[in-house]
Amino acid sequence: MLQCQRCLEDVAVGVRSRSRFRLVPAGEEWGDQDLDDDSYEALELDGLLDVRTLIEDEVLLSLPAIALHDQCSPPGAGADADADASKPSPFAELGRLKQGKQ
Ligand SMILES: [Zn+2]
Repeated sequence: MLQCQRCLEDVAVGVRSRSRFRLVPAGEEWGDQDLDDDSYEALELDGLLDVRTLIEDEVLLSLPAIALHDQCSPPGAGADADADASKPSPFAELGRLKQGKQ
């Protein structure tokens, strides 16, 4: 769950991430190939691999910078629309179209 940057309510964000790693034991020389090849990430491994932290980092990197619902209104948008009667709210218009369909 992230906070929608439009309406400020919770928005569920799905994350799908696929990463490849090459584990390099601490102290071992990294080949030039590790720096040039973008298909995997070389990780220096000193002791046990903390998979939980690795996954957490990958999820954080995969999250969108800005989370938004597909459709929502900023807080107080309804009041603004009422104040400017000459401009019908696109959401009110959508509601009208939906009702017409039923
Ligand atoms: Zn929203």
